Amino acid sequence: MRPDIPALLHDVFGFPAFRGVQEQVVGRIMEGRPTLAIMPTGAGKSLCYQLPAVALDGCCVVVSPLIALMHDQLRAAQAVGIRAASLTSVDADWRETQDRLRGGDLDLLYVAPERASGEGFRSLLRSARVALFAIDEAHCVSEWGHDFRPDYRLLRPLLDEFPDVPRLALTATADAHTREDILVQLGIPRDGMVIAGFDRPNIRYAVHARDGLPRQLADLVAASPGPGIVYAQTRAATEKLAEGLERTGRPVRIYHAGLEPQQRAANQAAFIASEDMVMVATIAFGMGIDKPDVRFVAHAGLPKSIEGYYQESGRAGRDGEPAAAHLFWGAEDFARARQRIGELEPTRQQGERARIAALGALVETGTCRRAILLRHFGESPPATCGNCDNCLAPPDSIDATETARKYLSA
Ligand code: ADP
Ligand code: MG
Repeated sequence: MRPDIPALLHDVFGFPAFRGVQEQVVGRIMEGRPTLAIMPTGAGKSLCYQLPAVALDGCCVVVSPLIALMHDQLRAAQAVGIRAASLTSVDADWRETQDRLRGGDLDLLYVAPERASGEGFRSLLRSARVALFAIDEAHCVSEWGHDFRPDYRLLRPLLDEFPDVPRLALTATADAHTREDILVQLGIPRDGMVIAGFDRPNIRYAVHARDGLPRQLADLVAASPGPGIVYAQTRAATEKLAEGLERTGRPVRIYHAGLEPQQRAANQAAFIASEDMVMVATIAFGMGIDKPDVRFVAHAGLPKSIEGYYQESGRAGRDGEPAAAHLFWGAEDFARARQRIGELEPTRQQGERARIAALGALVETGTCRRAILLRHFGESPPATCGNCDNCLAPPDSIDATETARKYLSA
């Protein structure tokens, strides 16, 4: 009997409808076609394999790079009644999980790439029925990607040993090089690529030359009601900028990896509950945090990559209401980036240079910022968006950019 997909979507996951390309991706998997799904953070990638995992006969093996991510997803899946387990170093119930897998009693099994690519796991799968391989955060397979994980490269023999099992690679962040790499490394044909729209039309993008950052940030905060996040580049900068912002009278908290876990959790909880708090944080803050009413995100310095910028600024306005993304940069940011690149292994340098050049194009442009962002993700946006600084007030000439250009030309 053919599974009733809309009924499963509703009854198991509680969603009235698919969002965006989910339907297309799930449809392809149900037909057994290999697929690379490129969908922004929050677009609902997990459903693209969890629903087929429930609908198909057999277990869906999910390769995921972080134990914390796996366990979050595991809990969420189990909460809606999906038979799910993981095999990681911190799981105590390996024997039971293996028995359940062999006995056809699992819909979803999460494993890390180093486990998935090992011989022991392969022979375990030979004694089970596998319905789907889902490779989450698939950009990790590429040296061009921002989180290269060599173990992802060892997955191919596993996938190829089960040629009849469909494979689904998922990522939020893949420029053209990374995409190509994912397709080649994981053996997915070019026409298997499904790309979701990346535009966040309610976010207004603005870029500012840094010129007395504490004052600029204080002005911004004074003019921006509602919860906001300020991303600083170092722990020390986080504390210093927060100190300055406290004088504006707004509630301010900080978040970085150097705080006691309890303090971090308390600050995060306070931010999530607040309607006007400013969180000054390193990029350690935000992953997996669901606060739909963040009204502004400010970067107090150059982000690490366009992908990072898109993801971090994308935490603004999840509720669809107007929100803003501000980026403050200076030529020193590029100088520092170039120095950092110089210290890397030569094989990593090319990718990093390209990343910095893409950021240069974003901050230097006198044309639509949104168009630059969207083109980076392979879209063909209109030349003007009407909702970024350059579209709202076209600059007369490009001036303050010569310094940056000098730093960029290596
Ligand atoms: P991603 O991995 O792409 O960042 P997730 O899979 O974590 O996104 O999903 C993001 C959020 O969207 C989750 O809270 C999920 O429950 C929700 N979601 C997913 N699909 C749908 C849908 N079709 N309708 C409504 N909400 C959805
Ligand atoms: Mg995800």
